[in-house]
Amino acid sequence: MLDATPTQLELRNALVINPAKTCQPIGAMYAALGIHGCMPHSHGSQGCCAYHRSQLTRHFKEPVVATTSSFTEGASVFGGLANLQQALVNIFAIYNPDIVAIHTTCLSEVIGDDIPTIIKKSREEGLIPEGKVVIHANTPSFVGSNVTGFSNMCIAIVNYLAEQTGEPTEKINVFPGWLDPSDMREIKRLATELGVVITLCPDTSDVLDLPQTGIYEMYPRGGTPLADIRRMGDAPRTIALGKFTAHPAAEALLEKCGVPYNALDAPIGLANTDLFLDALRKAAGVEVPSSIEAERGRLLDAISDMGQYFYGVPVAIYGDPDVVLGILRFTLELGMEPKYVFTGATGKAFETRAAQLLEEHSTSALVKSQADLFELHQRIKGDPVQLLIGNSHGKHIARAENIPLVRAGFPILDRVGHRLFPMVGYRGAMRLLEQISNALLDFQDRTCPEEKFELVQ
Ligand code: SF4
Repeated sequence: MLDATPTQLELRNALVINPAKTCQPIGAMYAALGIHGCMPHSHGSQGCCAYHRSQLTRHFKEPVVATTSSFTEGASVFGGLANLQQALVNIFAIYNPDIVAIHTTCLSEVIGDDIPTIIKKSREEGLIPEGKVVIHANTPSFVGSNVTGFSNMCIAIVNYLAEQTGEPTEKINVFPGWLDPSDMREIKRLATELGVVITLCPDTSDVLDLPQTGIYEMYPRGGTPLADIRRMGDAPRTIALGKFTAHPAAEALLEKCGVPYNALDAPIGLANTDLFLDALRKAAGVEVPSSIEAERGRLLDAISDMGQYFYGVPVAIYGDPDVVLGILRFTLELGMEPKYVFTGATGKAFETRAAQLLEEHSTSALVKSQADLFELHQRIKGDPVQLLIGNSHGKHIARAENIPLVRAGFPILDRVGHRLFPMVGYRGAMRLLEQISNALLDFQDRTCPEEKFELVQ
């Protein structure tokens, strides 16, 4: 039974139920954690910071550090200058980071705090120790999403820190966009295998996927070093992996330092990984080694071995736009039939890019930006799918409609593995393929009558 008709869903424009996104500062906090020696700072009330830290901690299964301006009623009325200045004094005295990356919240944005002026005043008053860096990004959560916040912090990293010294470097810049640490590690592995030296920015590997040593380190060895970020303006080329979380920073670097860039999708699946490696190969003038060709061949073999399980399977994909677009392309490569392609992020660019990918495979789907999971659920009730791919928030749909769910994207709160095993590159695609095929086969095992099951063995 449908609770809402498709027409009612189309007409609904003033209410969002279970948005397929979360708030801006979470993205800014995550991006800041990818700078070595960085303390993310939330300029707002404690509740916002606690929520953002807890979401990231639950997804990454690592303690996420961040400080807050701890707004109370006074700051809400008189502005947050005094709170931020006191916070900066405390942060450098107690936690001693190399850099503080400030992001705003709804409250400080509504007040209208002028963060660059507060940073300047604090430096003039000697509240920021010599040699320490403070940057900021505006991340009002009443517009955009976690994806916008991530992107805004990456732009801030470029605008504050990247320089063009006139001494060229051969390092290729790679903006990975919002991926898990395991994905960032895989991108670095592929570059090393190719023999290309890259500056990956931000880089949360060895920050949020740490080995257990028994010793807590507030600033682990990972994260892009400040010195490397500064040299990004001298690089011959940038490769940006994701329209929403990587391209804007690459554009900012082009404008500031004139570094040209390749605007690619996240390297999820076969074709997207091919394009990434080809761009990297051309940028550095190297050949693809046989080891990577073999990885690609094994992925192709797995796709053809298991093609019968994927062909024509209707699937719904939802979550953050860059990840959804990558998974969409991979499901098309597998011969699946994407039926619903939803993101909570804003912007027609998502719909345009998804439509291009679908057209390349001569198919169509219901593609929606600024969508919510309520609508996805209602649509599925009317016209079901056999598989869901997305974050943990879709599990209620999976449970109610008895559909298997492959968890991918952010946040994944109720499963493990995403932090350790990549989704990008050929190896990542193999893992995704394994997850999809096992989910479909497990479901078949549980639901298929015995005699029918015999036939598909
Ligand atoms: S939506 Fe705004 S008020 Fe709510 S947690 Fe996010 S930043 Fe804070």
